[in-house]
This record gives sequence, C-alpha cells and structure tokens, in this order.
Amino acid sequence: MSQILLHNTLTNALEPLVPVHPGEVRIYTCGPTVYASAHIGNFRTFMFQDVLRRFLRSQGYRVLQVMNVTDVDDRIIQSAAAAGIGIREYTDKYIQAFLEDIDALHIEMPEELVRATDHIEDMVALIEKLQQKGLTYTSDGSIYFRTAKFPAYGKLSKIDVAGIQAGARVDVDQYEKENARDFALWKAPKPGEHFWETRIGPGRPGWHIECSAMSMKYLGDTLDIHTGGVDLAFPHHENEIAQSEAATGKPFVRTWLHAEHLIIEGQKMSKSLGNFYTLRDLFAKGHKPSTIRFLLLSVPYRRQLNFTEDGLTQARNSTERLRNFVLRLKTAQFAAGSSEEIVKRIEKAENDFDAALADDINTAAALASVFDLVRDVNTAMDRGAFLQQDAPRAIAAMEKFDNVLAVLVDDDDEKLLKLGFGASKQRISSEQVEALIEERNAAKKRRDFKRSDEIRQKLTDSGILVEDTKDGSVRWKYK
Ligand code: AMP
Ligand code: ZN
Repeated sequence: MSQILLHNTLTNALEPLVPVHPGEVRIYTCGPTVYASAHIGNFRTFMFQDVLRRFLRSQGYRVLQVMNVTDVDDRIIQSAAAAGIGIREYTDKYIQAFLEDIDALHIEMPEELVRATDHIEDMVALIEKLQQKGLTYTSDGSIYFRTAKFPAYGKLSKIDVAGIQAGARVDVDQYEKENARDFALWKAPKPGEHFWETRIGPGRPGWHIECSAMSMKYLGDTLDIHTGGVDLAFPHHENEIAQSEAATGKPFVRTWLHAEHLIIEGQKMSKSLGNFYTLRDLFAKGHKPSTIRFLLLSVPYRRQLNFTEDGLTQARNSTERLRNFVLRLKTAQFAAGSSEEIVKRIEKAENDFDAALADDINTAAALASVFDLVRDVNTAMDRGAFLQQDAPRAIAAMEKFDNVLAVLVDDDDEKLLKLGFGASKQRISSEQVEALIEERNAAKKRRDFKRSDEIRQKLTDSGILVEDTKDGSVRWKYK
C-alpha cells in the first residue's frame, strides 16, 4: 500500500493516513437531514466521500463507512406536523429518494446507513455518561453541555473561545457560525412536539449528540476519518469532539476532512437560500447521471466547485470522450503484436493516477493523467503504432481508473428510466442500427448523399452516436 496523504482540518496539515486497525479505514460521514430532497451541493460532498472510499479500496484497504441520516430536527418536526403525519413517515420518502439518487450517481452505499431515531438509547447513554462526569446542566427540562468545562473546545475550527459566556446557550438547530455557546444535548418537548420518554426525561436529542453516539457505536472511540462539508466544522464537529472526548478521554477522530462548497452564482447552494437544483431537476432538464457524477468529482474537494451550464457541457463531453475511447479500443482493428512503448505509457498513467489521488484526493490531476493517456493512445492508433495486444492492456487500465471514476459503463438511460425520466426517448435495437448503417453505407457508395444524411439524422434522433473513422469503418453507440 502506498502512502496516502490527507489534509487534516485539525492540524491544518497534510498527513499520512495511518488507520487505527491496520488494513481497515473507518470513516464516519455526516449524512443528509431528510426534511427535503438533497441538492447537488450536498452530493458534491457525498461524491467526494465516494471517491475517497473507492480509492482506499483500490489501494487494498477495507473500508467501514457509517453515514447517519438526521431524521429528527426542528424543521422535520415542523414539516411533519404541518403535513399531519409522524416524523418517521415524513422522513421515509426523503430517505427513499436519497437512496435512489445515490444509486443513480453510482455513489456506493456505506456499510452502515443509520437513522438517528433508531439510536435514541445510545444517545441517552452517552448523555448520562457526560452527566456523571459533571459536564452538563439542566435548564427548563433541556440538558446542555458546559462548553467551558472542555478546555480543548475550538481546536478543530480554531474559533475564538475567549468570548464564550458561561451559561450562554443555544437551543435551536440552526446555529450561528461565529459564537461558541453551550449547546443542547437533549431538548425538552415543546407542546405538541414529537418526544421520547427516557431515563433522562422526556424530549428529543440535539443534533450533535446523534453523530457522537452513532459514530462511536459502530466505529469505536477513535475513528480514522470523519467527513462533512466545511459548514459542519463549526459548531457541529467541534461539538462532536467535545462530547466524545469528554466522555471517553480518548481522541475522537484522527483525520478530519472537509469538502468545500458547491457554489452557484457566487453563493453556496443551499436549501435555505432557495438557489438549489436537486438531481431530478437536472434530469428533467436532460442531463445525465454520469455527467453530474463527472462534474461533481472533477474538482478537488478542497476547492470550491462553481456550478455552471458550461461545466455540465464539459463534463458531458469528457465522459463521452472516455466512453468513445474504450469503444475504439474494443472495436478498432490493430496490427498484430504489442508495443513496449505503449505498455510503458499505460503504466505511467496508472502510476500518475494513483499518485494524484494519494495526494489528498487530487481528482483534477488524476483525470489529467487519464486524458493525457487517451490523447497519446489515440495519436498512436492514428499512426499505426498501437498494436493488437495493447488493446486489452489499455482496456484494463481504463477499467482500473473506472473503479474510482465510475462513469464508463453507459447505464444512464437505465438509471433515468428507473426514476421515471427519459422514457419517451425512442430506443431502437442494435439490429435496426446495424441495418440503417448498412443502408447508409450503400447510399454513400452510390453517392446518394441526401439519403445518407437522412439516415444519419434518423440515427441521431434515436439517440445513436455515429462516428465515421479514418479507415472507412463506422462506429456507433447509444448516447
Ligand atoms: P444537510 O443535509 O444540510 O445536513 O447536508 C448534508 C451534507 O451536505 C453536509 O456534509 C453539508 O456540509 C453538505 N453541504 C451542504 N451544502 C453544500 C454545498 N453547497 N456544497 C457542498 N456541500 C454541501
Ligand atoms: Zn454529523
């Protein structure tokens, strides 16, 4: 296993990954709050986590990833009440939609996807532990963490804690970003609100305790990696550290990774600003799952991703380019033999790809190594320097890259159809395509260009991409 460097928010430095359990990386991911559909900003962060886990696996690590689903918070309680249904019922449909979305994007399922409302007992037990250590106080039936009792408070976000006022506390789930305060571990029920009857009284958990309780339950007291978007570093992750380390006396997380935001017209895409697209909004506009996947993974996670129509077009073209390259490798005729030079070139690309990802998951550099290879091999093919036995070697390299990228297999239509999109697209069988191409060849031969153009148009309208190659043969594929 080669050394993997990751930028740890805690130390603000690139550090080698050294898992607690050799050979296995344990990752906790703050998952969606399911009061509405996730937007593509959320998926930017989830995509980074997917690339991370795919890369770790490609390097021979086992991955144990836990993602939580926040299925209880102020907004969920209010929205469920407004809809006149329970919070489980209200959140079920958004969880279902989330699962469908990650499937469409080829985001792998974490080993554990856990709901907050299934872990109330674990949270109560953790709060009791903090109570026994004298780190909490109760006010109006709610239980708060006494931030001033945890001297390391602020070490993740480097927030200035000098201004923390003893007893100043915050109750709501929408936190201010600047002020460090005592935060609620357990919230007393408001009239008409959903609550649990527990040993620490009636109420519901605060948001932060959920992640501390569930991460340590499944991954142990010290996790290898904890991830989320940059907006979660403070106060959410800072509070997770306080609760967890105060309870166990051990370091909670070795490496904190935070993904920068996806922005649109200069602003963070967010539900509250209303400037968001869901995945389905983009599908409805005709964009493919693979295009969105490519776009989301193409910008390294510590750089903001500026979402534009242009970016979508480029992502689509890039994906097409990779798919066409593999099609050419699989269908073109090459002279017998193998070329040492080509094999060396492929190995270089493989090494560059891994080295880029081992450098803090630099996806842009990893993609550059793939596209450089595509360019060089295409050139070699054009000048006859690429030989028959080089093709399986090049295909194997592309498949290796695709273990991380996951855009080569053209199942866009299938994914879209599953979600009720694209069903209207007229799909013709491969036999029909072959027959039309033959007819077009014949038309060209007799110089009936009107007819050959008509056939080409018909193929295009049916979603078929036709490519006339230099050697006179014709390649085609479903778009
Ligand atoms: P939420 O559903 O709001 O709890 O967010 C789920 C994940 O998406 C968290 O890790 C957030 O930090 C992340 N997130 C929210 N908005 C964006 C954005 N515009 N760009 C990238 N990540 C985001
Ligand atoms: Zn969390």
